[in-house]
Amino acid sequence: MQLKPAEIIKVIKDQIDSYSDKVELSDIGTIISVGDGIVNVYGLDDCMACELLEFEDGTQALALNLEEDIIGAVVLGSCDNLKEGGNVKRTGKIVSVPVGDELIGRVVGALGAPIDGLGAIKTREFRAIESEAPGIIDREHVNTPLETGIKAIDAMIPIGKGQRELIIGDRQTGKTTIALDTILNQKGKNVICVYVAIGQKNSTVAKVVETLRVNGALDYTIVVSATAADSSALQYIAPYTGCTMGEYFMRAGKDVLCVYDDLSKHAVAYRAISLLLRKPPGREAYPGDVFYLHSRLLERAARMNAQHGGGSLSALPIIETQAGDISAYIPTNVISITDGQIFLESELFFSGVRPAVNPGISVSRVGGHAQIKAMQKISGTLRLLYSQFMELQAFAQFGSDLDDVTRRKIEQGQRILEVFKQDINSPVRIECQVIMVYALVNHLLSDVDLSDISKFEEGLIDHVTYNCKDLMAEILQDGLTEPVEEKIRTVIVNYKNLFAA
Ligand code: ATP
Ligand code: MG
Repeated sequence: MQLKPAEIIKVIKDQIDSYSDKVELSDIGTIISVGDGIVNVYGLDDCMACELLEFEDGTQALALNLEEDIIGAVVLGSCDNLKEGGNVKRTGKIVSVPVGDELIGRVVGALGAPIDGLGAIKTREFRAIESEAPGIIDREHVNTPLETGIKAIDAMIPIGKGQRELIIGDRQTGKTTIALDTILNQKGKNVICVYVAIGQKNSTVAKVVETLRVNGALDYTIVVSATAADSSALQYIAPYTGCTMGEYFMRAGKDVLCVYDDLSKHAVAYRAISLLLRKPPGREAYPGDVFYLHSRLLERAARMNAQHGGGSLSALPIIETQAGDISAYIPTNVISITDGQIFLESELFFSGVRPAVNPGISVSRVGGHAQIKAMQKISGTLRLLYSQFMELQAFAQFGSDLDDVTRRKIEQGQRILEVFKQDINSPVRIECQVIMVYALVNHLLSDVDLSDISKFEEGLIDHVTYNCKDLMAEILQDGLTEPVEEKIRTVIVNYKNLFAA
């Protein structure tokens, strides 16, 4: 063996040159095992729950399972470069994401990094993704409507600002459409929207973003996306990221709407992580704390009182059921957490009733408080008429002879059903909805042919929008006082004559 003194001297000199007397103190642990996106780490005794850990190559992980000596963490990224025996450093930080106005109009990943190719997002602030929900004293009750622009929902299952309303139904029943239409309807209403896509296909998310862009809704919307191609860990934190971004605006006194599409896939991602972390599986193999997974997220929806800025965060979580089974584990959990649910039925959807809302088992526990006065006055009757119709409809199918009263009720019900059919991306303003519902409950449509209803409705809405501006303002301001009712009646009757001609 030949020694090369020059080389050895050079190495020693380099080392002396780069010597620094600054001592860096950090907790260092060792990787015990790594695989399936999970690392087990030994030697990080003071690690916090949800703390970010960092490996030598800069990859980060999220500490989820804190045992006596060992910490289980999920890797946020790829674990190709991680090896047993490698070092792990504590960062002392809980997972945080950027928040601020700069995010509006952007599409970001689960950690807040842009994925829309429009350059860096220059936010000034970071917030931890987990935070405590506002307390009771800081809240105001829910009493302002959050209009969806969807007739069946605004009239029968109204949603208020700060409410959590579940959208539940089988696959392909229009769940995403309802959430998206609600976002589109917030245009010009000073509501900031956050759409969180969890475990969906990239192409589906791209389509959603395109719909938002085309309709000018991206100007007030943030899209957070953790697709099926992303790791379970990212899918798991995505809704908390979206909620944190929304919360920032709520704390600043603004109104926010968060859509979580969907929480079934979120639960599945969490189940995958938990099983890999060897948490004991329970019902349907979900871990025992899967209720807490969703309750701590949805509890952060709130309407703050005036001392706390008066902002609000409304939540529209989405759950996908299998064959309409709402008594499965995750659906029952989320039903019990939220303040009501909009139930979509595939049977209705395929029979052409779209949106396929089933008003029988859909509820909003906030009720009339979340409606304008005018709608509140007539919507009670509407619900009643509708459920009576549903009962009678079963008989009508036999084609038996029906007495006059029953026949009239069925005809009215069919008209209600017809009016509630609504195309996608076509929200109807609340005052126009009042006119239509008024016509329904007061039998003013009984002499319009069933097949003409949608054409009639379209014409009537155009007519009142352009010719009755004062009346529309009165409906919003005064509610259905007697003179207003009289005017509405006259307008409808006059238009009917016009329509017939
Ligand atoms: P998935 O389970 O795949 O997430 P989903 O329940 O979110 O589906 P959507 O994607 O909203 O359902 O809608 C499914 C299809 O039904 C879409 O093609 C959509 O255009 C159509 N659709 C939804 N609502 C309506 C409607 N009101 N009128 C006409 N078509 C509709
Ligand atoms: Mg969907």
